[in-house]
Amino acid sequence: MSIDDYEGMVVIGAGPAGSTLAYLAKQRFNTNIVVYEALRRPGLKACGWGLLRNVEDYIGPIPREAVLNNIKGFRIYVDDELVVDYGSKRTIAYMVDRPLLMEKLLEHSNAEVLLGHRISVREAVRIHQNYLPVIATGFQWRPRDRRLILGIEYRVEDAHIDEPGLMEVWTWSGIVGYLWVFPFNSREAHIGIGGTLPYAELKRLLEEFIRRDKRFENTRIVDRLSGYVTVNGLDEKFLGPGIPVIGEAMGAVFPLTGEGMRPSMISAWSLIEALKQGNWRKYIRVLQKTGLTKSIKLQYKMLRHIEKRRAHLNVDKLRSLVKDCEWLVYELAFGKMNTWTVLRALPCGLKKALIIASLIRRYSG
Ligand SMILES: Cc1cc2nc3c(=O)[nH]c(=O)nc-3n(C[C@H](O)[C@H](O)[C@H](O)COP(=O)(O)OP(=O)(O)OC[C@H]3O[C@@H](n4cnc5c(N)ncnc54)[C@H](O)[C@@H]3O)c2cc1C
Repeated sequence: MSIDDYEGMVVIGAGPAGSTLAYLAKQRFNTNIVVYEALRRPGLKACGWGLLRNVEDYIGPIPREAVLNNIKGFRIYVDDELVVDYGSKRTIAYMVDRPLLMEKLLEHSNAEVLLGHRISVREAVRIHQNYLPVIATGFQWRPRDRRLILGIEYRVEDAHIDEPGLMEVWTWSGIVGYLWVFPFNSREAHIGIGGTLPYAELKRLLEEFIRRDKRFENTRIVDRLSGYVTVNGLDEKFLGPGIPVIGEAMGAVFPLTGEGMRPSMISAWSLIEALKQGNWRKYIRVLQKTGLTKSIKLQYKMLRHIEKRRAHLNVDKLRSLVKDCEWLVYELAFGKMNTWTVLRALPCGLKKALIIASLIRRYSG
């Protein structure tokens, strides 16, 4: 069905998926858009606020007002030892003010936005007859079919971050999950942790990290949030009864990293592209063409593998694998592993290229 078959679009949920959909719909079609959001402000749920820049290949430049920081590299620590130190001349990710970003996207969409309104699909269809309903409710859609991992997010002030252009990831042997430090500037950051451990254990690890790290000696914790992230990957069970489902609701989250904003926005873009082609039902095929579905599947298999091995990590092995080709970790974390990755790895040594090829074959089959 094409957009012309409907009087408009009714979007349930104003997270990255729903607000991007409204934003792109306004740019591409002249149609009525109504957005329902259960929260009093869009985008308020727990999130690290890290957004990879390549999302702009799909939705265009993100509104500058919402950009808090340009990230040009990252460091990964395993068992308190630095294993990956990746830097780039260009911005690879943004720290965004997530609620503000959602607001700006919605503002540009001219949609009618109903905040503080929780609505069921049935109700939305009844009220907005002849509108295309879109489910963008995040992990709250079909929760029983999901594998959810818990995340805790603290916002800190009065820190002393000497390199605020770098994101940090910390993980420890025996733990399926990681802790992140995502700076807004040298004084403010999001520090969070996500993983398969119970809430109390994650909280203990997070608070111990903040206490131990000198950069956060006199830090004030100004916000504490927690929430779930879907790690099943894209699953047919999440697809709607003849209704498009986008974003985390459809499982568009990288299972290993928990990165969900960019995939959610790309899934919204895919739906718009399919509508432009005259049939929204093609949106899964459009999404597949972006390579996202394959990368998510790859990360899901890797997550399962790590869980089976009980997250046993060998620091020396990891360090030697990524030495001189830290970009590999960037490609893996951000879902870009393919044949091209293998070719790019060749100058790092045939052995490494072969290991990568076997990893891709093993996990993406
Ligand atoms: C602790 C934590 C940290 C994270 N950090 C990052 C990060 O740094 N970067 C990243 O890319 N991803 C991160 N993620 C994942 C990311 O937040 C989500 O995957 C992403 O927000 C999904 O976008 P979405 O629009 O699909 O769903 P959501 O962001 O969940 O938005 C769905 C919206 O729908 C609303 N809603 C639900 N039901 C209804 C209803 N019936 N009626 C009306 N409204 C409804 C909800 O209130 C919500 O606002 C993190 C997740 C967690 C838990």
